[in-house]
Amino acid sequence: MSKYGKEIIIGVVPVVLAFLMYIGMNVLPILLIGVIGFSLLYMVRSKGTIGFGAGGGKAKSKGAPKYMTFEEIGGQERAKSELKEALDFLIRHEEIQKFGIRPLKGILLTGPPGTGKTLLAKASAHYTDSVFVSASGSEFVEMYVGVGASRIRDLFKEARTKAAKENKDSAIIFIDEIDVIGGKREGGQHREYDQTLNQLLTEMDGIHSSDAPRILIMAATNRKEMLDSALLRPGRFDRHIGVDLPDKKGRLHILRIHAKNKPLAPGTSLERVASETFHFSGAQLESLMNEAAIYALRDEQEEVTQEHLSMAVDKVLMGEKTDRETNNEERRRVALHELGHAISAELVRPGSVSQVSLAPRGGALGYVRHQPLQERYLYTKDFIEDQIVIALGGAAAEEIFYNGRSTGSRGDFEQALQLVGNMIESGLTSLGIVERQMVTREEWTKASSGILDELFERTKTMLLPLRYVFEQAVDTLIQEEMMTGSQFRELLRQFKTPTSA
Ligand code: ATP
Repeated sequence: MSKYGKEIIIGVVPVVLAFLMYIGMNVLPILLIGVIGFSLLYMVRSKGTIGFGAGGGKAKSKGAPKYMTFEEIGGQERAKSELKEALDFLIRHEEIQKFGIRPLKGILLTGPPGTGKTLLAKASAHYTDSVFVSASGSEFVEMYVGVGASRIRDLFKEARTKAAKENKDSAIIFIDEIDVIGGKREGGQHREYDQTLNQLLTEMDGIHSSDAPRILIMAATNRKEMLDSALLRPGRFDRHIGVDLPDKKGRLHILRIHAKNKPLAPGTSLERVASETFHFSGAQLESLMNEAAIYALRDEQEEVTQEHLSMAVDKVLMGEKTDRETNNEERRRVALHELGHAISAELVRPGSVSQVSLAPRGGALGYVRHQPLQERYLYTKDFIEDQIVIALGGAAAEEIFYNGRSTGSRGDFEQALQLVGNMIESGLTSLGIVERQMVTREEWTKASSGILDELFERTKTMLLPLRYVFEQAVDTLIQEEMMTGSQFRELLRQFKTPTSA
């Protein structure tokens, strides 16, 4: 049919009918045939859509499983094995019934954003050969009372019908951001949330092991402490699985998964990227690989190189390069500030600088990227103090050279304050073992500024004798704009810098 076929038919048919009526013909049988014909056509078309199944058309938009396996999820080995163990309850349901074990109804996945909780839920559906339906907590939030509760009912209904249609005997319902509807009920204000949560609890209580399909609810949150205790009690979400940020091995695994469909240049080392991306989530690593490929395409190169990967790390960490024009005086100040961070870092943790850059990115005019020498999850007082010294290095350098600071240190101070807060709350200061509520604002401020003032002085005293190193290195940095960690260390070595404090 031509491009305008439909419009032509819509225009011509009424004209023909009007003409036939005008010449006195009975048009009723023609109309009837037309209606039947159109109905048949419509039915065939809609069946065609269903026939394409999960792969195409409408079915894809909601709840259609994009089947994914546990192998396609990088790292998270502990979470995966805990999850598989729990899912075996769903698979070995007959044995479980024999032993009189009550069915597992809810699994709660907790952890920071972008760590793969949704992926784990999807893989669970594949592992247990279940249908998968999903919703997000924020979808239940409506202005009208009762809508959230009826959406919960619909979700369970959808799971049951879908299982029947696809001939599956189990279904997984995944609710992301469960904290939106499952927050602590404190009475009064949030009646709509209460109704939604009550409905969820009622539906969960109605799940029995003998029911078909067997239903398992999985939920995800990064704020477990906010959840109402009714949700967490035995028989509801009583399996909690932590999904943490990946360690180096996990990051490498995730990078490899997302590098599979990208042409990597020979010699590129994903191991290097994995060690430079401490604290990155799976979602950030996926974005990093994507950005690296975009850089390669922009450069009109055939393959993704190490440099593209390194640029992508900066992009994900700091944001896109901005073309903020800085004048020479500003550039010099930024260079000295960044040298302050980098030199402090090399003094307290030799070998830890992985890049010094003067290219403005995101909100920063320059930055130093650090590489953890060793991944750690426990921090001593000395370690945190060194971290604060590195954060204050920029402001200390500005004081040495300009006798005053600039607004460029704002982010550094925020970071330093956060670190001091962590020290106080961990009982590592003269305040002793305290909680935030136990000390007055004045006491907190006094302890915090006392530590920061002392560390600021320590940083200045440490950098002052190296004034000449700054003076030698600043022009090279301004000229080069970007230096890798090893180039920077070579520069320091040339100026005979002592590399340890
Ligand atoms: P949120 O809490 O924000 O909902 P989430 O923990 O559910 O996040 P996902 O939606 O599962 O995170 O992950 C987002 C994307 O990040 C995935 O589509 C995938 O591309 C990537 N990703 C995250 N974790 C992993 C992982 N472990 N392995 C491979 N890819 C991952």
